[in-house]
Amino acid sequence: MNFDDYRGVWVFLEEKDGGIAPVSLELLGAGRQLADKRKTLLSGVLIGEGITDLAETAFEYGADQVFVYDDPIYRHYRTEAFMRAMLACVEKHKPEILLYGATSTGKDLASAVATDLPTGLTADTTQLDVEQDTGLLLASRPAFGGNIMATILCKKYRPQMATVRPKVMKALPREPGRTGTIIAESIPLKETDVRTKVLEIVRATTRRVRIDEADIIVSGGKGLGSPQGFQLIHTLAETLGAAVGASRDVVEAGWIGHHHQVGQTGVTVTPKIYFAIGISGAIQHLVGMQNSGLIIAINKDPKAPIFQSCHYGIVGDAMEIVPMLIEGFQSALG
Ligand code: FAD
Repeated sequence: MNFDDYRGVWVFLEEKDGGIAPVSLELLGAGRQLADKRKTLLSGVLIGEGITDLAETAFEYGADQVFVYDDPIYRHYRTEAFMRAMLACVEKHKPEILLYGATSTGKDLASAVATDLPTGLTADTTQLDVEQDTGLLLASRPAFGGNIMATILCKKYRPQMATVRPKVMKALPREPGRTGTIIAESIPLKETDVRTKVLEIVRATTRRVRIDEADIIVSGGKGLGSPQGFQLIHTLAETLGAAVGASRDVVEAGWIGHHHQVGQTGVTVTPKIYFAIGISGAIQHLVGMQNSGLIIAINKDPKAPIFQSCHYGIVGDAMEIVPMLIEGFQSALG
């Protein structure tokens, strides 16, 4: 494998609700830094139906060029079809680095592509850097249950691929009018070549708000005392139209599922408002929420570390304060 043939930093641009998914814009921000360090181009790969115009958004967020596969066959995400397009693009244009958002679609596509290419994939990365001279991608992620940060290298193969957690990288400020090159691509792919058929899309009807997308998160810790006490967190969240978060100790106690866990070995969140209730503020929790817009802590221990990291702190018993908040918000919000 001749490494000199492989150039450029690529980002898989995921389409979401008619636009480019926030995580892809974040990756353009991270990718821009890597590309500048390597003095190379930052490219996006767009696959879908009627999506060519989205390339303009990618340019405004830092891309120099976008490879576009615009065809009815890509109307819905299907592993086989998207994988075939991505593989063709990689084989033709040979990127040095290829990044995907660690979303359901990004993870599915990246792992499918990795099974075909003779290269590796670092999953769920939280930090990225590149060696300026060698182009070696330094992809870091928590390992061994979060006890260490491992930096994973792919020394012998190209492209170097990684999925990156949403909300960890920063998108660049939008630069209206910034332009780039659209490169229209296609492969001879027929409907009969794709074994999966999308018969119907059924939107989830749950009223629950997803933790990684929420503007407000109400998080509870062991200070709630019991699963019954933790119900107060659900009620407050429902009152505010917020998502429910939790500390690891609460998840390990089985009071709520792991996908609600905030922190080093859980989800990284950046809501506008984050309530930390009965949470001590261990560093492993803080790293997952410290970039929230406004942090409000409730804890009965005035020396709890969370009070060093919040904007507003209430010292007192959550069992008394949270019901008052629920009542107050319910009457204020009607
Ligand atoms: P505690 O530390 O038990 O704190 C409970 C708090 O509630 C205390 O501050 C107490 O004063 C307060 N309290 C008690 N009663 C009341 C009351 N009635 N009203 C108000 N306040 C009250 N943790 C995470 O959260 N996320 C992670 O991703 C994560 N990853 C980890 C990875 C590793 C490798 C390790 C070693 C640990 C990790 N942890 C993680 C665990 C972390 O170190 C803490 O143990 C955990 O965050 C503590 O949870 P807690 O704050 O709910 O519980």
